[in-house]
Amino acid sequence: MKTIGLIGGMSWESSLEYYRIINEEVKRRLGGFHSAKSVMVSVDFAEIEAMQMADRWDDAAQLLSDAARQVERGGGDIVVLCTNTMHKVADAMQAAINIPLLHIADASALAIRAQGLQRVGLLGTRFTMEQDFYRTRLEQQHGLEVVIPDSADRDTVHRVIYDELVLGVINPTSRQAYQAIIEKMGTEGVILGCTEIGLLIKAEDSPVPVFDTTTIHAVAAVEWALRDLT
Ligand code: GLU
Repeated sequence: MKTIGLIGGMSWESSLEYYRIINEEVKRRLGGFHSAKSVMVSVDFAEIEAMQMADRWDDAAQLLSDAARQVERGGGDIVVLCTNTMHKVADAMQAAINIPLLHIADASALAIRAQGLQRVGLLGTRFTMEQDFYRTRLEQQHGLEVVIPDSADRDTVHRVIYDELVLGVINPTSRQAYQAIIEKMGTEGVILGCTEIGLLIKAEDSPVPVFDTTTIHAVAAVEWALRDLT
């Protein structure tokens, strides 16, 4: 089994989920007393959030490249960056290390393709919904058609992430707001493109199939780690 290198803390609410899911998945596949070999470097989200708000993406790239190097030095065989938004600096991180970085958008696109879907909605932070690093990758590298909410709804989705989900607040009213936004997009499926949204929206809460990037990414990491065994 290879060692999965996680970069967490963005937020730690979802890093917990990654840790749980990868261990459950290893146990499901190998049985018995098996659990995942992993290392995690966890950053201070306050520093990351301040950089996001001030548009200091170069500083964020440096901070997360350092974290990736730490993972490599700690024995990780692959880097799993436990946030969608910070994949904005994934290329810089990959350039800083000699082990692969498992891109969350690629893993998600493969899962959507495997279900035979093509036109999907995307919920995430404003950065993820609006900027090229994520949508364009899904569209150009994976041939998906990606729909995002209108501007007012993007505000709502973004606000709920930063005011509630990353702080561990799960609010039924916000769940209803997300449900209405998913319905309005009218797509075949929806990408939960922020690693905390799965804490608010489960499959049964959505009128269309959900693609929870946290689960998809964590399971893809396990698949990679066990590749030579199964
Ligand atoms: N975890 C979230 C994501 O997947 C948002 C927090 C962050 O900005 O990193 O995008």
